[in-house]
Amino acid sequence: MRTRAYVGLGANLGADPAATLAEAVRGLAALGATEVVALSSIWRSAPVKAVGPDFLNAVAALDTGLAPLELLDGLQAIEQVHGRERPYRNAPRTLDLDLLMFGDLVLRTPRLTLPHPRLGERAFVLRPLLEIAPELAHAAVGEAWQSQRIECQGPLRF
Ligand code: ADP
Ligand code: MG
Repeated sequence: MRTRAYVGLGANLGADPAATLAEAVRGLAALGATEVVALSSIWRSAPVKAVGPDFLNAVAALDTGLAPLELLDGLQAIEQVHGRERPYRNAPRTLDLDLLMFGDLVLRTPRLTLPHPRLGERAFVLRPLLEIAPELAHAAVGEAWQSQRIECQGPLRF
């Protein structure tokens, strides 16, 4: 059975974030039993509750035969390849991959919460998500995200 899943990609404007996002998409496409079926544009915004340079974000739609935790394992493996370190909460990071939705699964476990708990309130998640899945507009909670400053940076090429 295949499930439509949405992955949020975030890269800090440290090294070469557009290249990091592109490599992450290639990593997603290389996961077993998984295809990348849609990609948003790249969006740029200032960090939320964090210091440091701007972030670039995008969302990928996947069709996957993996189980939710298998997919999370895959995302974390791709993060590790990019040398992600977590010295403290909300630290600047080279690559952050979040599982936003996994079909219509609702889950609350220590390792995995679905839909992603902050999915509905952040423009850097919702702008790219609604670009490729406008039918998910009901996932947007409130209107705060609509006033957050964010800029489209053009297509994500990989
Ligand atoms: P952030 O919330 O800033 O993305 P991290 O990427 O460091 O923080 O994630 C911390 C933990 O969140 C991970 O170890 C993971 O187990 C857990 N987690 C819970 N739900 C999810 C989800 N939907 N997607 C990704 N990680 C999740
Ligand atoms: Mg994360």
